[in-house]
Amino acid sequence: MRIFTASLATESNSFSPIPTSRKSFEDTMYFPPGTHPDRATHCTAPLYVARRRARQEGFELVEGSCFWAEPAGLTRQADYEDMRDEILRQLEAAMPVDAVLLGLHGAMAATETDDCEGDILERVRAIVGPKAVIGVEHDPHCHLTQKRVRNCDVMILYKEYPHTDFVERAEELVTLVLKTLKAEIKPVMSVFDCRMYERFPTSREPARSFVDKMTSLEGRDGVLSVSLCHGYSQGDVPDRGTRMLVVTDNAKAKGDALARALGEEVREKRGQWSPPFLSLDEAIDEAYAAERGPVVVADPSDNAGGGAASDNTNVIRRLVERGCVDACVGPVWDPVAVAFCHAAGLGTTFQLRFGGKAAATSGDPIDAEVTVIGLCRNGEQSFGTAKKSFGDAAGIRIGGVEVSLIASRTQALGTEIFSAVGIDLASKRYIGVKSTNHFYAAFGPIASKVLYCDGKGPSPVDPRDYPFRKMRRPLWPNDELPQGEMVV
Ligand SMILES: [Zn+2]
Repeated sequence: MRIFTASLATESNSFSPIPTSRKSFEDTMYFPPGTHPDRATHCTAPLYVARRRARQEGFELVEGSCFWAEPAGLTRQADYEDMRDEILRQLEAAMPVDAVLLGLHGAMAATETDDCEGDILERVRAIVGPKAVIGVEHDPHCHLTQKRVRNCDVMILYKEYPHTDFVERAEELVTLVLKTLKAEIKPVMSVFDCRMYERFPTSREPARSFVDKMTSLEGRDGVLSVSLCHGYSQGDVPDRGTRMLVVTDNAKAKGDALARALGEEVREKRGQWSPPFLSLDEAIDEAYAAERGPVVVADPSDNAGGGAASDNTNVIRRLVERGCVDACVGPVWDPVAVAFCHAAGLGTTFQLRFGGKAAATSGDPIDAEVTVIGLCRNGEQSFGTAKKSFGDAAGIRIGGVEVSLIASRTQALGTEIFSAVGIDLASKRYIGVKSTNHFYAAFGPIASKVLYCDGKGPSPVDPRDYPFRKMRRPLWPNDELPQGEMVV
């Protein structure tokens, strides 16, 4: 038995000012065949799991290239095709294969291709033929198009948000693909389009219980897998939105009914899934009114993980203006300011300009006398079992506010993004993180309270505030809630 695996993944923000090229992938994560390290990264979990299962269960695994770029704007078309074709050539060379396992984020768009994953899967199917089994792992912030579902056999999405379960879901994917190859099951997929969009953090209700319910339905009565596609707010593509995916063992009618029933439950609870967003001043007031710290305040409006630049200065400026003490904010992406801090040296107080560079939505840069409180080379933060680089970094202090400056753009995932640059989190009243919800895995446990604020950065927290052109309407909350419908 011979299985091919590869990964091409990013999350394409149609409104981001940062263009994405092949180099963006190579700078973030590029593993040509055979060079992938023996640890999981979130989009290459199928490779990581399949490698171990191949050793245990005696099948042959052919490893193709793996690409991941930090979310940003649309990928340049020629570069997308170049990476796609690199993987397709490797697959052709590996033929004949019995199965293909792909780690695809699911919200990648190129300048001339809205549905990159559908395009890839259609080409993979054409190469391997109808009998080979194609298994795909997706991030729930994907666009679950008919084309991609029709061109694979099994698709599984992470259930948790923060996405701490990418390895467990990859294990399930590999198990279902192997069972299909042994003719023990015949997976059939059903997709229901909820015709809405909302955020679904599973660190709070009602999404926490909904994930538990999805899990409880699996592995009995012919139900193999249940996934909720949250959709991706900043992807302006026709299929943007929330969808339910059910995989059954050759029980299409049953899968359809379950996908529809769960989808209707999601629709009924619309407006309750997303956390409440405070204004910045309300968040500051509430954080300092708390009995004890630290209060973690997320600002999803400048989340690099969703394609924002992460160099907006609104939150820092307001904390400084209000004379707040024992506060910190991060990460701010500013490679030039990081280089200046390294050149100035630890303990130096000097005049620094930082932030506010990538776009008009970044706000104005801050000019201030700062003290360098920590320096770090090639920093890494933890996210579950994965490590994510933030490059060189520097910690600075302005009055009572400390800021983590980083050279390699990423969101706040692990506490190292502060601790590596001399920022002590335990003593803080206010910890401002540029992240939508992935911060929760590491910062939730150290927080006395978690708040979500609208920092008025480049990514509006209200999905109605984006100038969508391609998204199919009507779609709630941009429009009145239309009827839901089966897609597959
Ligand atoms: Zn995601």
